[in-house]
Amino acid sequence: MIPAEHESTEISAGLSLTVDLAAVAENYRIICQHLAKGATSAAVVKADSYGLGMEECSRTFHQAGCRFFFVTSLDEALAFRKTQKDWPVATLHGLGGLRNIHDISAYYQNNIIPCLNSLEEVRLWHAAAKQTGQRLPALLHVDTGMSRLGLPPEEFSQFKEHRGDFSGIAFLYVISHLACADEPDNPVTEDQYKKFCAIKEALPDIPGCLANSAGVFYDPKLHFDMVRPGAALYGLQLSPRQPEMQPCLYLTAPVLQLRNLNKGDPVGYGSTWRVKKNNSLIATIPAGYAQGYLRCLGNKGRVYVHGKECPVVGRVSMDLVTIDVTEVADRIKCGDRVEILGKNRRADAVAAEAGTIGYEILTSLGKIRPRLYLR
Ligand SMILES: *Cc1c(COP(=O)(O)O)cnc(C)c1O
Repeated sequence: MIPAEHESTEISAGLSLTVDLAAVAENYRIICQHLAKGATSAAVVKADSYGLGMEECSRTFHQAGCRFFFVTSLDEALAFRKTQKDWPVATLHGLGGLRNIHDISAYYQNNIIPCLNSLEEVRLWHAAAKQTGQRLPALLHVDTGMSRLGLPPEEFSQFKEHRGDFSGIAFLYVISHLACADEPDNPVTEDQYKKFCAIKEALPDIPGCLANSAGVFYDPKLHFDMVRPGAALYGLQLSPRQPEMQPCLYLTAPVLQLRNLNKGDPVGYGSTWRVKKNNSLIATIPAGYAQGYLRCLGNKGRVYVHGKECPVVGRVSMDLVTIDVTEVADRIKCGDRVEILGKNRRADAVAAEAGTIGYEILTSLGKIRPRLYLR
């Protein structure tokens, strides 16, 4: 159910969350094995490494050869800097909405590299560089179809015209972000690729960085100089073209109580589920929406126990959920551990049950503490 080493390190009597760092490292290696010649892989460690722990995951990626990291905000970058003084880290949210030179000093004082998302941010960073008397590193983010962050086409035209005015900035990479790379037949990706090629042609001296996880496995032509995966590193399957990644997050919970119930007996809030057959066995385990086990998994989710998948029955409570364990009634007892996430319960499968994506399952359940690490 979970790697054997886990049993001995387990210190939690209740919900127990374990991160397998060897699997995290293996996923980084799988990405590297698929890279086009000359391309390298950064690691996106935003949102506390998708719930798995930024500090531990970053160290793992670095040991596996990663030399560039992405976070979202200044706060995340400062948290990264607390433990990693030297490794390059870039903020996807650029200068975070700050608009004057004094406020953005925290970036260059801490060696944090902004992805400049607008012409205004480019001007501000250049002005900061002039003031410090040094060239300051940055990434240039140009929008090719997300309409979210990055220079829109009109701003990029202006940027090209006035490129010489921004001599204070050392552009390490020009980046853009793919909207549909998880859909192999969606023409949007080819369109974004062409737009990005035109951008690269206009800036031949700046290395390119386009692909997210799905982009890595879409086509090596999307790799340019560096790829920028997050999800695949943490074990998610994004596209049918992707090899199988290793699951990294293991979540188990003990059975708190078992109930023998008969046909028609109600279970949980709203009595939304009633027992279907006499002599059914219902187990209650300590995981609910307060812990990140999404409420929409009520009457939909599944867990794995004693070799069987068992359904969630009734609504998910704040910190409890009820499951029908009739199928394993001959084996199960109080205190037995139920697998909520793991080798048999991949985040992608739980996401499908919840009508969401694996990213939301990892970032929700990754908040559980304590979190144990397998190295
Ligand atoms: C989150 C993010 C990534 C990583 O995407 P995955 O789908 O997790 O690989 C890459 N680039 C940008 C701009 C992002 O916001």
